[in-house]
Amino acid sequence: MSPMPALFIGHGSPMNSIETNRWTTSWSDVALSMPKPRAIVAISAHWFINATAVTSMARPRVIHDFFGFPQELFDFDYAAPGSPDLARQLADIVAPTWVGLDDETWGIDHGTWSVLAHMYPAADVPVVQLAIDASKDMQYHLDLGAQLAPLMDDDVLILGSGNVVHNLRALSWGAQDQGFDWAQRFDDDARSLLRSAPEQLGSLVDSDDYRFAVPTMDHFLPLAYIAGIAAATGGAVSTFAEGCTLGSLSMTSYAVAPTRG
Ligand code: ZN
Repeated sequence: MSPMPALFIGHGSPMNSIETNRWTTSWSDVALSMPKPRAIVAISAHWFINATAVTSMARPRVIHDFFGFPQELFDFDYAAPGSPDLARQLADIVAPTWVGLDDETWGIDHGTWSVLAHMYPAADVPVVQLAIDASKDMQYHLDLGAQLAPLMDDDVLILGSGNVVHNLRALSWGAQDQGFDWAQRFDDDARSLLRSAPEQLGSLVDSDDYRFAVPTMDHFLPLAYIAGIAAATGGAVSTFAEGCTLGSLSMTSYAVAPTRG
């Protein structure tokens, strides 16, 4: 079996879970283009806490962490199993960085299941979520991502789920599959950097567009894990979806090619 790529997916609205559109088609297509993983480590924008932790329960609950959406979304179930073994393996490989094993608090949130519902609709691939530690700096997230790279050789898919540009205050519901100039510009800058110097992801902070594109770090930081893997492995970075939607969300999604160790 060939090694797994690592992916960053721009997940956008929770409605994508139950819709079929150009973005969700890109997610199902990318899953079909690669070997099926034995398990998934998901770094979702929606588990953003003041600790580094990994879900370690055998049966993670499905978390509906949004409001104001149709009942169909609240009824949505993604009954993927967890993997206590993978949680422990992850904690071991990143040592001495400390990772707490969470067997009761979290589960699978919509940042993860909205995407996996299209990639693996049968929910038959075990999933663990790795929390994003909001108290840490960019370098910590890049380094922690790099430490996960060996799992790619062990048939594990590393999946970051967020949005490179994510400004909910600026959402424009009429701008279907369009982005404001500043959103498009920042997305383009991020893409250039990911391809040329992923280890410098943090330099995007200096962009004039940064404060509009990244008003909070939660949706941006999952990308740091994938950039860290690209920097550490030298794997080529490509996109499998590009562009913005609703004016202020980037849906651009990245794959880091595996390198044979
Ligand atoms: Zn989100």
